Amino acid sequence: MEEYEFTCPECEQTIDVNGPMREATLANGCPVCGASVSDEHFLEA
Ligand SMILES: [Zn+2]
Repeated sequence: MEEYEFTCPECEQTIDVNGPMREATLANGCPVCGASVSDEHFLEA
């Protein structure tokens, strides 16, 4: 179940993510390019 829409500030990929994926992306960076991201890059779907 996807709960958030992530848009990477670096590579501009848009990815639908769930809560755990959101946490992992905040911790590890963008899954595509590895850029560090913050809360502002997630929108509630
Ligand atoms: Zn990226």
